[in-house]
Amino acid sequence: MTLEAHPVLVLPIGAYEQHGAHLPLDTDTRIATAIAQLALLRCQSSDFVLAPALPISASDEHQGFNGTLSAGTHATQEFLVAVCRSATWSRGVVLVNGHGGNADALQSVHYALDDERITHAIWSVTGAAITDTHAGHFETSIMLHLFPELVQRDTATIGNTTALDQLMPTMRKDGLRAVSLTGVLGDPTTATAVDGGVFVEQNVLSLTQVLRHCASTWNSSS
Ligand SMILES: [Zn+2]
Repeated sequence: MTLEAHPVLVLPIGAYEQHGAHLPLDTDTRIATAIAQLALLRCQSSDFVLAPALPISASDEHQGFNGTLSAGTHATQEFLVAVCRSATWSRGVVLVNGHGGNADALQSVHYALDDERITHAIWSVTGAAITDTHAGHFETSIMLHLFPELVQRDTATIGNTTALDQLMPTMRKDGLRAVSLTGVLGDPTTATAVDGGVFVEQNVLSLTQVLRHCASTWNSSS
C-alpha cells in the first residue's frame, strides 16, 4: 500500500475491561474504532490513515472482574508516546480515546509529545452523564446502535448511579468493585438503539471537525 505524502495518523485507543454482564470486554475499543471510521468516511480525504486500535490500556480500576486486562497508566503512556514518535512519516497524530480511565495517561502523553514537538491532538468519546459512566445508558445505547448482536439485554441490571466525582475517592483507592458489584455505573436498562444513534452522531460530528481542522492547519510538507 502506498500512502499519500505526510498523512494525518488517526489512532484509536480502546480498553479490555469488564462492562457488566451485558456488554463485551472490548466495548471501548469497538466504540473508539467505529467513531473514528465513521468520522473518516465523513472527511472523504486521503489526508488520513487509520491505525489499528490499542486494545489494552489503563484499566487498573477494573481489577477483580474476570476478563479485565490492564497495562496500567505508565505503560499505556509510554506505549502511546513511542508509537507517535515512530510515525515520522505522518504530519501529526490524532488520538481517539474510548476509555475514560485513560485520562491520566493521556494528560502525560500530551506533555511528553509537546516536549518532543510531535504534532498531535487528543480527542475522547463524550456525552455520558456523570451518573452513567460505565456500561450504563450511554455505552449500552451506543452498542445497541452499532453492534446489537453483542448486547445481552436480558442480563443488563442497574448499577451504581451516584455521580462519578463522589465515587472517585473510593474507586481510586479500592477499585470499581468497591462501589458496584455488577461493574456497572449507570442504568443500562433504559438504553435504546435510537439514543445510541444520537450519541454516535454527536461524537462523529465532533471528531470530524477535529480531523478537518488538523488536516487543514498541520503543515503537510514537513
Ligand atoms: Zn466503556
